[in-house]
Amino acid sequence: MNEPIEEFRKAGHRVVDWIARYYEDPRRYLVRAPMRPGELVDALPAEAPEQGESYERLLDDFERLIVPAVTHWNHPRFFAYFPSSCSPPAVLGEMLAAALNTNGIHWLSSPAVTELEQVTLAWLRQWLGLPAEFFGEIFDTASVSSLHAIAAAREMADPEARERGAQPGLTLYCSEHAHSSIDKAALVLGIGRRYIRKIPVDAEFRMREDRLERTIEQDRAAGLRPFCIVATAGTTSTSSVDPLEPCARLAERYGLWLHVDAAYAGAAAILPDKRPLFEGWQRADSIVVNAHKWLFTPLDLSAFYTRRPDVMRRAFSLVPEYLRTAEDSRAVNLMDYGVPLGRRFRALKFWFVLRRLGREGITKLLRSHIAWAAELAAWIEADSRFERVAPVPFSTVCFRLRGDNEANRRLLARVNQSGRFFLSHTELDGRFVLRVAIGNYHTSREDVRELWELIQRTADEL
Ligand code: PLP
Repeated sequence: MNEPIEEFRKAGHRVVDWIARYYEDPRRYLVRAPMRPGELVDALPAEAPEQGESYERLLDDFERLIVPAVTHWNHPRFFAYFPSSCSPPAVLGEMLAAALNTNGIHWLSSPAVTELEQVTLAWLRQWLGLPAEFFGEIFDTASVSSLHAIAAAREMADPEARERGAQPGLTLYCSEHAHSSIDKAALVLGIGRRYIRKIPVDAEFRMREDRLERTIEQDRAAGLRPFCIVATAGTTSTSSVDPLEPCARLAERYGLWLHVDAAYAGAAAILPDKRPLFEGWQRADSIVVNAHKWLFTPLDLSAFYTRRPDVMRRAFSLVPEYLRTAEDSRAVNLMDYGVPLGRRFRALKFWFVLRRLGREGITKLLRSHIAWAAELAAWIEADSRFERVAPVPFSTVCFRLRGDNEANRRLLARVNQSGRFFLSHTELDGRFVLRVAIGNYHTSREDVRELWELIQRTADEL
């Protein structure tokens, strides 16, 4: 059936109106739907419709059935995990990308996909203070970006692996607080968990460089082949930053690939006063910064940078005949630098965000979130029932009730049960810890203040 275009236009206006209203007044929704697993499945037909339906019915059901089952990551009071909120210009970019539905398999299949990706990542690279030698490409998630980094590291250490497969002994180093995606990458690449060294952290949850060096030395002496260090700038639990400069020094001394996982906190390098925390990352072989975490761009957009595109190419280039083209040498074929062939036009939404907000707009948002996190930390410290349990270098605050884990679990459950706020937790040194990650485009200081008041009231009632 060909779409009667007037119906599309009318429904499209209704969709935009719905989105505008959603952004106008997001607080009328609960952050998390009070629903049981399976409820939506039960509410929907078990079989798809035979005949096409009207947009009216479809959109009515979207509002009636789907929205109530949504956890609103865009909600101003979503403080769980790390933020992943979306600014209005990104929505428009995403709509246009869907309308074009162009596929950047290689340059020829859609020059705009490849070239806008190059332009937007170069703009971001400049804001992050990284040198021009860093080649940028977009993946869906940080997990996949890190997978590519570790594959390139393996290629550098063991070029034969591409033909004969992985051999045991290649050894990877990361802190005990590194994200689980690093383990998963090592699993997928045949490194094996036995060859992942989890280096202990210091009192501020940063990888200990003395232990890192000692472990590398011991492994070399035992005949293993150290090949990669993964440093985290903004760990998932506490947002601590591993010592990047010493990691770069050790990587250079032992000839290892250094990958920096800055999935969340990397955005803060846009701020000159936070830049010192990242000192040394310009010497990394690869870096990941998720625009879909703290850069107001919706899932998915993970910015991956490498100083070694030649190694990425060696690891991944494999061109079947039907994809061979004869452009001039300026044409970049991103399929040569990673696993995905199909490439959606993610850069378009990012271009909209970078242009509409500008560095000034993004800086203002980041600074507000950091300032509110500092205020929250101060309120916590001023209430003797609570303790702050980690430094707050960015916009994530870790704290707990002074008391047992059970009391903290109950506190978190009750705050979340209200449906008005959503927080998550972590465990530090065997202790259950609450986390507040501030980073939503729509959040205000008042939201943070009200969250703290609710936490205090809930603690009174426990
Ligand atoms: N790295 C860090 C430090 C993270 O905190 C996360 C997720 O929160 C990831 C990687 C994984 O991100 P993604 O969901 O984009 O794979």
